[in-house]
Amino acid sequence: VSTTANDTTATRSAAGLIAAARNGSTEEADRRSVNTDRSGYTPASLPDGVVYATAVEDVVDTMVRATADRIPVVARGAGTGLAAGSSAQAGEIVLDLSRMNRILRIDPLEQLIVVEPGVLNAEINAAAAEHGLFYAPDPASTAICSIGGNIATNAGGMRCAKYGVTRESVLALKVVLPDGRILVTGRETIKGVTGYDLNALFIGSEGTLGVVVEATLRLRPMPVSTATVAAYFPDIVAAAEAASAIIASRITPSVLELMDGPTLAAVDAALGTDYRSRGGAFLLAQTDGYGAFLEQDVLIKAIEPFATSYEKATDPDHTAELLRARREAIPSLELLGTVCIGDVGVPRGRLAEMVTGIEEISRRTGVRIFTVAHAADGNLHPMIVLDEGQPSTEGPAKAALAQMFELARSLGGTLTGEHGVGLLKRDWLVDELGNDSLGLQHAIKGVFDPLGILNPGKGI
Ligand SMILES: Cc1cc2nc3c(=O)[nH]c(=O)nc-3n(C[C@H](O)[C@H](O)[C@H](O)COP(=O)(O)OP(=O)(O)OC[C@H]3O[C@@H](n4cnc5c(N)ncnc54)[C@H](O)[C@@H]3O)c2cc1C
Repeated sequence: VSTTANDTTATRSAAGLIAAARNGSTEEADRRSVNTDRSGYTPASLPDGVVYATAVEDVVDTMVRATADRIPVVARGAGTGLAAGSSAQAGEIVLDLSRMNRILRIDPLEQLIVVEPGVLNAEINAAAAEHGLFYAPDPASTAICSIGGNIATNAGGMRCAKYGVTRESVLALKVVLPDGRILVTGRETIKGVTGYDLNALFIGSEGTLGVVVEATLRLRPMPVSTATVAAYFPDIVAAAEAASAIIASRITPSVLELMDGPTLAAVDAALGTDYRSRGGAFLLAQTDGYGAFLEQDVLIKAIEPFATSYEKATDPDHTAELLRARREAIPSLELLGTVCIGDVGVPRGRLAEMVTGIEEISRRTGVRIFTVAHAADGNLHPMIVLDEGQPSTEGPAKAALAQMFELARSLGGTLTGEHGVGLLKRDWLVDELGNDSLGLQHAIKGVFDPLGILNPGKGI
């Protein structure tokens, strides 16, 4: 698959497009600030320029000109992605959506909110909270990631265990197609099955089919109560077994987050906390709604055979402190070196086999691997921490990623649960999807983007 736009004869310089744009820049500092994300991968070259869109017309104008001149365009939200999906290189321009950041409408009766793509995930929740509502998908990056990026990656988060991932919370989208046409997908009603579900097709398409310029999102009533428990285990295998036991006990936790001992030590070093001294692994569990505390009793019974100790959060500050420890896992590891994050998913009854296998892979390849997981989804983030100058796209790091994917697949799992394929996971796509599925997906891409100018070489 080509990593550049399809048309090799008509490609022209991006300079004309940038010069004609309302907010375009070819300044080196601007190009540098948008050529990478948080994946640890940096392209060897800088993109040709950046357009900072402030309105739908800017996006339409950019795509019309890009189509006319066959210029590859990389849509960018907040640049917090972990798969190099928004990274850009020479010959490409970046369409930055972060300045389209207005909340357009909130309807408490219909429990929906209409936003521009650059609004941050946490800002949506803050607006919803004023009406006793919340937006469910809450990536650990909630304070820094945009809803456009969340939609393009079908982002997950802690609460997705109970409330579903981004796909379950997007009712409608306004999208600018590569040729500049504006398409509306989905609808404001809760139900609706007219035609193919193009809304779902765009969610998780990693900016390869169109540019999201507006989203109508489903909000939910804030739970009347939330019960939080933190449990400590001798090791990560015991914690993974406890997570599977919680699922088997037929309750639905709203949060079930796992961290291994080395990650706890890194969090302690960054935050000044003492989680590692309490155990070799940690599970943070929440239950919510009218039955929150009844469910918590069932949950505690399920983990007791595995845990060395547990504590119930006593007040909102204590709860916030526990959640913060989990949210700060990635930034804490970033202080130790370059972090290269796996995102595998396995059936929830096989978590212990996966974490055991990850430990073996670490021993075999000699790379340091720290593991956190959205345990109720079976979604693990084994994080390889590299020393300065160690490459993430070849050598032991790549071997470890390949072996983790192989292991997940052998357990009936998947390559990526929520971060997307981006640029970094394409080598393993066909192993999971097969040639027929991958071929159809390239054909779909061709229908929306026949010139191959939108985020070329990413996603599929
Ligand atoms: C500390 C940390 C914690 C994280 N925790 C989680 C987590 O718990 N769950 C999770 O799912 N992710 C997590 N992430 C990853 C990241 O935050 C998500 O993937 C997020 O959805 C990316 O949003 P963004 O605005 O930064 O997108 P970007 O990185 O800018 O872009 C990501 C992809 O979306 C495309 N895109 C962006 N905006 C648009 C648009 N308007 N239209 C079309 N395509 C677009 C880009 O082309 C690219 O392919 C975490 C990242 C960090 C740094």
